[in-house]
Formats: sequence, C-alpha cells, structure tokens
Amino acid sequence: MLRLTSIHPRPMPRPIDRTASRPAGADGAEIGELKALVPLGEVVSEGPRLRAAKQDATGSRGIRGETAALVLPGSKEEVAAVLAWCYEHDTPLFTRGGGTGLAGGAVPGGGIVMSLEGLHSIRAIDPGLWRMEAEAGVRTSRIQRVARENGLVFPPDPGAGEQSTLGGNIATNAGGPHAFRYGVTGSWVTGLEVVLPPGEVVTIGGPVRKDVAGYDLLHLLIGSEGTLGVITAAWLRLVPAPETQAIVVGFYDGIEHGCAAVEAVMANGLQPAVLEFFDAGALAASVGSFPFQAPDEPAFAVIAEADGSAAEVAANAAELASVMSEGSLGEVLELSGRSDARELWSWRDGVSIAVTAQRGGKVSEDIVVPVDRLAEAIHGTLEIGERHGLPACSWGHAGDGNIHASFLIDAADADELERAETAAGETFRLAIDLGGSISGEHGIGMLKTDWVEPALGPKVLSVQEQIKRTFDPKLLLNPGKKIPEPEP
Ligand SMILES: Cc1cc2nc3c(=O)[nH]c(=O)nc-3n(C[C@H](O)[C@H](O)[C@H](O)COP(=O)(O)OP(=O)(O)OC[C@H]3O[C@@H](n4cnc5c(N)ncnc54)[C@H](O)[C@@H]3O)c2cc1C
Repeated sequence: MLRLTSIHPRPMPRPIDRTASRPAGADGAEIGELKALVPLGEVVSEGPRLRAAKQDATGSRGIRGETAALVLPGSKEEVAAVLAWCYEHDTPLFTRGGGTGLAGGAVPGGGIVMSLEGLHSIRAIDPGLWRMEAEAGVRTSRIQRVARENGLVFPPDPGAGEQSTLGGNIATNAGGPHAFRYGVTGSWVTGLEVVLPPGEVVTIGGPVRKDVAGYDLLHLLIGSEGTLGVITAAWLRLVPAPETQAIVVGFYDGIEHGCAAVEAVMANGLQPAVLEFFDAGALAASVGSFPFQAPDEPAFAVIAEADGSAAEVAANAAELASVMSEGSLGEVLELSGRSDARELWSWRDGVSIAVTAQRGGKVSEDIVVPVDRLAEAIHGTLEIGERHGLPACSWGHAGDGNIHASFLIDAADADELERAETAAGETFRLAIDLGGSISGEHGIGMLKTDWVEPALGPKVLSVQEQIKRTFDPKLLLNPGKKIPEPEP
C-alpha cells in the first residue's frame, strides 16, 4: 500500500520534538508514476539531494523532516500534474524554494517534496514600464541583478539572496532592511500564476498596477507558506534605481538613547530607506569586524540609509546625522561612497554569523512590536535570557519594530537548546503583550503554530481554518504549517 499517503505531521509542541516526522517511503511503482508526470524535470528518491530536501535553515536547530521523494517539475503544467497526483492519492505535498526559511516552513512531514528550482526563467522584463515577470524558482539575487541592469530596483532584500527564491520570498512575504521605506515582498507583487488544488493553473492579478476585481486573493496567497497553492510565477512591480545613497551610523550608551534616536528619525519626518539597530550583545559579537571607527564597547547602534537624487541624499543624510547625534557616543559616522556602503552592508550581513560564533549556536526569533515598544522588547529579550541562564541579544529592523531576539547556546548541549527554545517561546508572549506579533517576516512555518491562536484569537483562527479548507479541502498542502492543522 502507498506509504506516501498517510503521513501528516503534527504541529510541533514546545519543547520541540526534533524529529518532526514519521518514517516515509515510496515504492518503485509510485516513483515511476511521479517520473512519468515530470518528463522535463526529475524525481530523486535517495542520496544527498533527498537528504537536503528534508530540512531548511532550521537544520542548525536540529530540525529535520522526512520524505519519500523529491520531485522537481520542469514546467507549470508538470507542477499541476504533481499536485493533481497528490490529490488523487491523498499524499501530502511540501513545496520548497531555496530552503533558507527560518521557521521550518519547507521541512516535510512525510509525503513528497516538490522543489520549484527547475522553474527558473525570467519570462519578461519591461524597463519602460517598470515590471518583470519571473518564475518561482528564480533566485532573489538574480531578480535584483536583472532589475539593476535595467536601471531599476526590486527593493525587497531578505538575506540569503543567493539561495532564496522568488517563490519562497512571496510565500513567506519576506522583508529585509529596505522594507522600512519600500515595504515587504508582497508590496511588489501585482500578479501570481499559481496551481490550486486539485491541480489547476490559474492567474490572479497580472501586469497591472491596480486590481480590485473580487476579493483580494493575491494578498491571501502572498505569505501563505505553501499551504494554499503552489506559486509558479509572478508579475513584479519595479522602481527606478535611486541615483545615490548615503549611510549614517550612530552609537549609543544604551537601549534608551538608541531607541530615542530611532523615534526621533521618524518624528522628524525623515524617510530613510533603512533603519536598523544592534544591541550591546550583537555589537560585542561583531564590532571587532566593523569596517570603520567605532567607540569602545558601544551598547547600541542605529544605522540609517538615505537614498534618492544626489541633492536629496545630501540633505537627508545631514538631517539624519543631526537628529541621530542627540545622545550619541561621539560623532555619528557619515558614509557616502559606494565602497563604504558595500563594506558596511557586508558587515551587517555577517552580524548573525558573528553572534552564532560566540557560543557555537543560537536560537533566534523574529518578533515584531509597535515601534514605540521597541526598547521594552529589547529589554524583555535580555530578561528572558537571564531567567533561562542564557546570554541573549537582539538586532533587526528598528523602523519596522522587527527584532531578531536571539539566545546564544552551545549547540552540542541539548539542555541549553531546549532552554533556548523555551526562551524563544517566551519572546512570542512578550511580543503579544506589547501589542505586536509572533513573526514580522520569517513566517510561522512549523515552529510557531502553537502561538497562532494566542496571537490571533479563536474567532480569527476559525476564519483562517475556513480559508485553508476552501483552498485545500483535503488539507494536503504543507500540512502542519502556518496555522495549527485543522481536524480532517
Ligand atoms: C542568512 C539568512 C538571512 C535571512 N534574512 C531574512 C530577512 O532579512 N528577511 C526575511 O524575511 N527573511 C530572511 N530569511 C529567511 C528566508 O531567506 C526567507 O524567508 C526566504 O524568502 C525564503 O525563501 P526560500 O526560497 O529559501 O524558501 P523556502 O525556505 O524553500 O520555503 C519557505 C516557505 O515558502 C514555501 N514556498 C517556497 N516556494 C514556494 C512556492 N513556489 N509556492 C508556494 N510556497 C512556496 C515553503 O513551503 C515554505 O513554507 C533569511 C534566511 C537566512 C538563512
């Protein structure tokens, strides 16, 4: 009998059961059937590629799933055929992009994994009309590069751009530093080509800048983490590249002065493209490699980037420097050259790795709070760490109130890992109590489903369950993710 069919993962309880799955297997006949469905693609049923498909970036937290087969369709029709096969055979389908997700969204719980990496063409770019049509498997960095080559920008800039895919970014509604001014991925998607159960290719929206026909299914699918449909392509809005940028960096003696600088930037009507923060722990781990002059042992840093025409940038950077000087440790730094900017953002990209290197491991979550509660969230993270005997720190997208609250661990110490998972859970309670939410950009995946009801309340959760059943009546698309798995 089909061993593929009966495996539904359970939402992960806390403390996390690290074997997020049950054994899965596929017999030769099923593999043969799947291969026949994807003549342009391939099916992998053993070896390192199948092993890699069992985890995403949460692999560093020991999270790994199980699956019988990795299917790589070569066209949208093949995606539809695979989804139809899953519906016919009651087989769970776990869609995956680059596997960089930080919430276990792509971790399979049996069934089959479908990777969209074979759908990797940029179908059209129209520089004159600032738009692009691209398939789901195109890497984020390629979208950005092709836009830039045409004098345009695709502003969403989640990390791991060399590995993550457009489909994954849309499915998680990924953010990144430039989301402060430009918004998250969903703000730049005007249409989707998507395969809906039981296996039909549909388009929602398109190369249009406005569309209010029917309910807004576009933004229901954006951020749905593979639980409502499989995205095969998207129409993207682009924007002309700003002429130039300048960066202002302020260091502070503590959380209060730093957060006051963040609020002052906003209160003064300045609109930087980026407004980031780093607390004392994040700086202690990374300031050694800071490429410019920094004060000794700074307790907080704020980075703002102004962009626009040369005249606008000069004026905005001067205003940012003036506002951010209030309460700063010494002079604020002003960086205007391209190579300085590259060095600074490359340092910024390395902060997470530097924090991990402190003790060999970390558990990090991405809570979001109203900007005026940022200081409380940063203090709260430190208190939670102290209570669990773990060094803690945070950094993130200050202007969006989006905090990467992190607990540093010895990765080989199972007790520390468990305490860190409990501590991470407490950051969700902290965020809810501060009027915020349990995830600003990384998504719910399998790690946070227990927290969805506390975050949304029972009525809203029941509406979410109805939405899930409407799109996916057999509950086969990425089961156990995004919301607690409804009863079959
Ligand atoms: C070093 C690092 C830095 C990061 N920085 C950021 C950041 O700044 N901001 C941010 O928001 N995130 C960040 N992330 C998280 C991650 O990069 C993003 O969420 C990314 O967008 C995921 O894309 P992916 O292709 O790797 O998706 P995957 O990890 O493969 O999948 C993520 C989710 O999307 C679903 N999915 C994937 N493709 C499709 C599709 N075609 N159709 C339907 N569902 C699909 C999967 O089922 C899963 O639920 C970071 C991750 C790393 C490792």
